[in-house]
Amino acid sequence: MSATLRLDALTKSFDGRANAVDAVSLTVEPGECLAILGPSGSGKSSVLRAIAGLDSPTSGRILVDGTDVAGVAPERRGMAMVFQRPLLFPHLSVLDNVAFAATVAGTPRGEAREDARQFLALVQLEGFGSRPVTALSGGQEQRVALARALAARPRVLLLDEPFSALDPELRADMHELLGQLRERLKPTVVMVTHDRDEAAIVADRVALLRTGRLLQHDTVERLYTRPASLDVARLMGGRIEVAGVVREGVHRSPLGSIEAPAGESWPEGESVLVVRHEAVHLASPPVPAPQGMTGVTAVVTARHARGPRAAIELAVGSATLAAEVPASRPLTIGQEVAAHIPRSACTVVTPVPG
Ligand code: ADP
Ligand code: MG
Repeated sequence: MSATLRLDALTKSFDGRANAVDAVSLTVEPGECLAILGPSGSGKSSVLRAIAGLDSPTSGRILVDGTDVAGVAPERRGMAMVFQRPLLFPHLSVLDNVAFAATVAGTPRGEAREDARQFLALVQLEGFGSRPVTALSGGQEQRVALARALAARPRVLLLDEPFSALDPELRADMHELLGQLRERLKPTVVMVTHDRDEAAIVADRVALLRTGRLLQHDTVERLYTRPASLDVARLMGGRIEVAGVVREGVHRSPLGSIEAPAGESWPEGESVLVVRHEAVHLASPPVPAPQGMTGVTAVVTARHARGPRAAIELAVGSATLAAEVPASRPLTIGQEVAAHIPRSACTVVTPVPG
């Protein structure tokens, strides 16, 4: 129940306007879960709708196991889609909603229902079959929508922000359920989300979009720690950008000289050092940096409450640093601390001219 999905320069423009999806190329391996991540309006749903066959691409190709699906009707693509709103049939029972596609396809009703029962069990709604769908909570509705999609035995499961209307606890339950379903059924999954934490939880790899362009297709870990550009670093919530110059593999800035991590080579010339604020350790009173870390003296310039954590901003000469500490840590504005930056967590991006 899985397939290789390949997008080849997929492009979509509506009414001759700027491309909503602009030459996106990527491959999703069988059984892999890809998250399409990006801000609102970045083209995520447009990519998904084109894959599903609900919209036709302006140009480019969509290949399933190497076969171009252009001209193949949505219901014949071996795909199923779940939207943010479950779109269940209100006049049918839970069981008949799940059995719907099979019944329409001509499977005898009893057989379709038996099959639907198994998928309901899979989404932990055993015994809910005879209920009207109007008697379900939001989380249960989305489970039914998932069961209905899976009952179609899709080779590619498409999810468009399926959990974003749920409250955080339910969303976490659904993430766990999706993990279990992936283990059991191993479909290829493409999930749209605007939430990078969700992408990090559910996906093997992430395609980061902005204004229809694929900025980076990579593991979550690399999107955070090895962003391909300043745009990627910012979209991933990066808060530290220190402008400087690379000479002979060493970045020089108000932070001092920071050497490229082992195995990485940094291009010579002007560039911006980026490092995740989560990686920065603050030592107060200041102590020398341990092996493998760069130590600088920094002054706390701002402190923002973040529930159990506090976000700290610091100045190092003309450069700005950020860090996160437990809320209980008594760091105050004006205080001098040592900031320790692991060299392995540093990377550089080249500013785009203009
Ligand atoms: P996302 O899902 O990332 O929020 P969309 O794919 O829905 O983004 O939209 C990308 C761009 O395409 C937006 O500028 C949006 O206004 C435009 N768009 C999407 N669907 C249509 C449509 N049916 N007609 C015209 N413009 C559309
Ligand atoms: Mg969308």
